Amino acid sequence: MANVLVVAEHQDGKLRKVTLPTITFGEQAAEVVGGEVHVLVLGHGVDAIADEVAKYGNVAKVHYANSAALEKYTAEGFAPVIAQVAEQVDAEIVAAPASAQGTDYLPRVAVALDAGMVTNAIKVWDDGGVRFQRPMLSGSVLETVEVTTPRKIAAVRTTDFDDAKEGDGAPVETVELGESRDDVEFVSMELVKSERPELTDADVVIAGGRGLKSGEAFEMLEEMADLFGGAVGASRAAVDSGYAPTDWQIGQTGKVVAPNLYVAIAISGAIQHLSGMKGSKVIVAINKDAEAPIFQVADYGLVADAFKVVPELNEKLKSMGL
Ligand code: FAD
Repeated sequence: MANVLVVAEHQDGKLRKVTLPTITFGEQAAEVVGGEVHVLVLGHGVDAIADEVAKYGNVAKVHYANSAALEKYTAEGFAPVIAQVAEQVDAEIVAAPASAQGTDYLPRVAVALDAGMVTNAIKVWDDGGVRFQRPMLSGSVLETVEVTTPRKIAAVRTTDFDDAKEGDGAPVETVELGESRDDVEFVSMELVKSERPELTDADVVIAGGRGLKSGEAFEMLEEMADLFGGAVGASRAAVDSGYAPTDWQIGQTGKVVAPNLYVAIAISGAIQHLSGMKGSKVIVAINKDAEAPIFQVADYGLVADAFKVVPELNEKLKSMGL
């Protein structure tokens, strides 16, 4: 037993970007345990997703669990199939994105496989035993966890890994499924509808803080996000003040993002906020206080009143044809 099984994630007929860094984690984990990477796609009629994911990484095989019972996501439906395939491919490590879905089903997979689990894994190595590193306390402490069970489960913090590169192409094999559970029924899922990309998938994130003083002020951030084709985020203080919806929250108790461009507007840069965005490739901060801690992590800083410069920037972006 020394392979790695990576569970792919998709939504609305599209492969979610978080899958690619999870495959990269899988490649690193496979080197540690001396085995192959296998990828599992669960769903119904999502052959195109299985074919797409097969293009990425150094992957031995893509396993496609295609069943009407898997059309709608339920942790109770997915977990037994993941556990079954983990056993079939002799997976020592089962990895999935530390997303809302991944952190929902992985504990059930861990129970089914009698396996130890680590959340938010950012590194894997062997030191006489398989060890994982994970950030704690807003990233101010890095914890090392040794998982001693024969099988190990990892929820991967995808912002810490590069996307898997296109590889030679892996074969896709359909999984023979047993009886599905009939004691759990999918009723409905309410998705927040947005024309904008999902925060954790977006290449550009424009985030606002309490300094904006109202929900209306976020409209100028939404305009900037739309010019870039990006998403809008917020600090917890802005969410708690009712200026922005909860699902925009970035940070320790919100989402973790690592876009190519992160623009922090009227956000002070508290450690709990930084832990959700400091992996961004380029950070731009706009704050009227030159001493604001956000400038310590910013690549570009603008000490200015957001109400003056954000509309000006939007006009400039429009004149550039964005
Ligand atoms: P403030 O700290 O009030 O900063 C507002 C900023 O706006 C200031 O820097 C000010 O100079 C600037 N400003 C004001 N007016 C203007 C203007 N006109 N133009 C430009 N700049 C202006 N926070 C998170 O964000 N995410 C989390 O997930 C999170 N989790 C937490 C978990 C715990 C357990 C705890 C204790 C706290 C958590 N927090 C989190 C809260 C965090 O500590 C901060 O309170 C919060 O991030 C502050 O938000 P802010 O920067 O928007 O507000």
